[in-house]
Amino acid sequence: MKVIPASFEIQDDLDRSSLAVRIEACGRICYKSEDKITEESAGPFIRRILQHGHNSVAEMAVITLKITIDSETLAAQFYQCIPRFVRVDRLGRKELLMTASVRAYRELYKEHGSIKMVKAIGGFLAEHHPLFFEDIAAKRPRFPLSGIVIEKLSLAEVDDLPVDLLINHRYLGVKFITNRAVTHEIVRHRPCAFLQESQRYCRYSEDKFDNQVTFIKPMFFEEGSPEYEMWQRAMEETEKIYLELLKTSSPQAARTVLPNSCKTEIIVYCNLLEWAHIFRLRTTPQAEPSMREVMVPLLKELDKRYPSVFDGITVTV
Ligand SMILES: Cc1cc2nc3c(=O)[nH]c(=O)nc-3n(C[C@H](O)[C@H](O)[C@H](O)COP(=O)(O)OP(=O)(O)OC[C@H]3O[C@@H](n4cnc5c(N)ncnc54)[C@H](O)[C@@H]3O)c2cc1C
Repeated sequence: MKVIPASFEIQDDLDRSSLAVRIEACGRICYKSEDKITEESAGPFIRRILQHGHNSVAEMAVITLKITIDSETLAAQFYQCIPRFVRVDRLGRKELLMTASVRAYRELYKEHGSIKMVKAIGGFLAEHHPLFFEDIAAKRPRFPLSGIVIEKLSLAEVDDLPVDLLINHRYLGVKFITNRAVTHEIVRHRPCAFLQESQRYCRYSEDKFDNQVTFIKPMFFEEGSPEYEMWQRAMEETEKIYLELLKTSSPQAARTVLPNSCKTEIIVYCNLLEWAHIFRLRTTPQAEPSMREVMVPLLKELDKRYPSVFDGITVTV
C-alpha cells in the first residue's frame, strides 16, 4: 500500500488549452487513462462521451459570449427560457453577457432551438466549435440572424471584467488529490461541475496503479503514534482483502471494502462566486479538518490571483 499527503492543483494549463483538450483531460480522470492522450485523441473521446450520455464531462469547459441585440422583444423571448445553469447578465439595454458550459449550451439549443436568439447562439457555436455541436448542427439556421451579433470573449477579456461580472463569468477548475470523505462533502456544492476517479473503472491491482491501493495520510494521527499504527494496520488488512476479492470479482464489487481514507482525485469546476461560497463554509473551524487542510492553502492561492473577490474571507485558526 502507498500513503500520500493530500494536495491540490489549480488547472491553469488547461485554461490556456482548447476546449477539446480541456474536456478530454478532465474526462480521463474518471478512468485514470491520461496516458492515452495523444494529439488526435480528443475528438473520438469527446464524441464517445457525448454519445454515451456521460454528460458531466461536457460541463468541464465554459464559453462566454457577448450578445448585442437590436430589439427588446428578442431579449424578452430569451429571458423566458434561460435554464438554471446558464449565467446571463445585462451589460446595457442592447448587450448581454452569457456564460455556460458546453453541456448547458447543447441542452439550451436542443430544448429552445426555436427561439431566435437561441438559434443564433447555436449557429455561432456550431460554426466555432463544430466538435461539440456537430451532432445537432443539422438544425443550424443560416447564420448570422439579423438583429443579433455574437462575439466570444477570450479568457483574458473575462479576467478584465469588473468584479461584479468577474465573479459570475470566470470559471476555475481545481484538481484535488484527497480522501473519499472529503470528496463526499465537496460534491454537495450543487452549482459546481465534478469529475472523479471511479472505483468502478479503476482496478488498483493493475501495473498503472503499482498493483496497490493508495491511501491519504490522515491528518488526525501523528505518524508513529499508537493511533497511526492502528490506522495503518486497518488499511493494510483492507488492501489485502480488496486485492483478494479482485481475483474473482469486478472492481465495483471489490471496492465495497474500501474505506474513506482511500485516495481519490476530483476536479471541481465553478465560478468565482461559488468558490467564495465554498471557502466561507469549508475554511472555518467547524469544517472537517481534512477539508480545511486543502481549502485553506487553496484560498490563499486564489486570493493572490483575485484579491477583489477573496480578500474579504478571513480564516480563523
Ligand atoms: C460545517 C458543516 C457541516 C455540515 N454537516 C452536514 C451534515 O451533517 N449532513 C449533511 O447532509 N450535510 C451537511 N453539510 C452540508 C451542507 O448542509 C450543504 O449541503 C453544503 O455545505 C453545500 O452548501 P450550500 O447548500 O450552502 O450551497 P451550494 O450547494 O454550494 O450552493 C450555492 C448556493 O446556491 C443556492 N442553492 C443551490 N441549490 C439550492 C436549492 N436547491 N435551493 C435553494 N438554494 C440553492 C444557495 O443560495 C447556495 O448558497 C455540512 C456543511 C458544513 C459546512
